[in-house]
Amino acid sequence: MPRIAYRSRWIFPVSAPPIENGIVETQAGRIVDVRAAHRGEPAIDLGEVALLPALVNAHTHLEFSSLERPLGRPGIGFADWIAEVVAWKRRSPVEGSSLAKRLSIAAGSSESWRFGVGAVGEIATEPWEPDVYDHPMLSCVLFHELLGLAPERAAAAWERFSEIAESDASLRPSIDEVPADGSSASVTTAPLHELGVSPHAPYTVGLEQTKRGVEWAASRRRPLAMHVAESIDERELMTEGTGPLRELLERVGAWVPQAFGRRDGWRALLTLLSGAPRVALVHANFLSPDEFDLVATHRDHFTIVHCPRTHAFFGHARHPVDQALQRGIPLALGTDSRASNPDLSIWREARHAAMRHPQHAAHGWIDSITTTAAAAIGVADRFGSLAAGRSWLPCVIELPRDAPDRPNAEFLLQESTAEPRPLIEPPSGMPRFA
Ligand SMILES: [Zn+2]
Repeated sequence: MPRIAYRSRWIFPVSAPPIENGIVETQAGRIVDVRAAHRGEPAIDLGEVALLPALVNAHTHLEFSSLERPLGRPGIGFADWIAEVVAWKRRSPVEGSSLAKRLSIAAGSSESWRFGVGAVGEIATEPWEPDVYDHPMLSCVLFHELLGLAPERAAAAWERFSEIAESDASLRPSIDEVPADGSSASVTTAPLHELGVSPHAPYTVGLEQTKRGVEWAASRRRPLAMHVAESIDERELMTEGTGPLRELLERVGAWVPQAFGRRDGWRALLTLLSGAPRVALVHANFLSPDEFDLVATHRDHFTIVHCPRTHAFFGHARHPVDQALQRGIPLALGTDSRASNPDLSIWREARHAAMRHPQHAAHGWIDSITTTAAAAIGVADRFGSLAAGRSWLPCVIELPRDAPDRPNAEFLLQESTAEPRPLIEPPSGMPRFA
């Protein structure tokens, strides 16, 4: 298999400093070298662009991608929004209609790719049809959603998940199965579909069910994601057993009194989750400093996933990103879904975060949508940086005529209006959502 060299005005490998007039050498869909160009060296010239690795969206729910705008209104109470989501799923053709869900996920996959995203951490729900995620380029870690507060419901959901996990061989090969020398082009260039598990959230899944998910993740070495401490309503439910989420659970007949009202509820949950090999704590908007200390003791395998524009939609108090970063806890970003976000651009999430938290450097926010996000969902072997061994799936940002001589992360993220696009565009005629 011949090597192909690409030249770019600037390369931002993310895992290494930017390279001016850089070369990426590829073979069979993988990067074999990233370096400065030699004088007169033949290469495919990509022009006046900055080349970055494909972006990684650490948390989304693509089944809501057919929504033109978020559900509810900005500033809506969390329990009220959950009620809106439940009502939408009931009246929407997505509920119970495989075709509508398929179209919504296809739209979300295309939209993600158009925004320069190469891999997503997707919360995948029943009915379980992993082929709905087939897209020519986008890789997905499918975090199967686990629900169940009441023991009977939890047991039925677990039985169903066990069947899916048993037939996991039907998913595409995981990175562990790709030959290290990249000798199989058909495998190295195919998008990755890998199974993970997601106990949904403390208000929908009990500790017993979460424990099953943790044990499965540990035995199969698969990633786990869970919505944690997303709202003040959830915090009240966990520690006091009261509030709007209790009222909602009572209304829908899902209230299980013994599941809530524990003062040490968060510590018990975080300790339980630490048994999984890789944990994405999604949101973590309302953890206390003590609880961040506990997360920090597991920072080698915990990542906090912040969803900046969804956070703003709910009008939550400022996200405690400082609490995480001061303790060295990895921080990734996600879009969450179109039920609470205007689009699926992870770059715009990083822009929003950089604007909201200017004390953190722009390159740190780019890490949050590349290397750290890839690690959070267990795909760092393929994604997150332009480096030897990684997939050749870059995105490009056009450099304007008045770009500085040495454009940096701050320029790309906060000063330039240009946005990333995939180097490999879909054929004309495919839907464009960006
Ligand atoms: Zn979510």
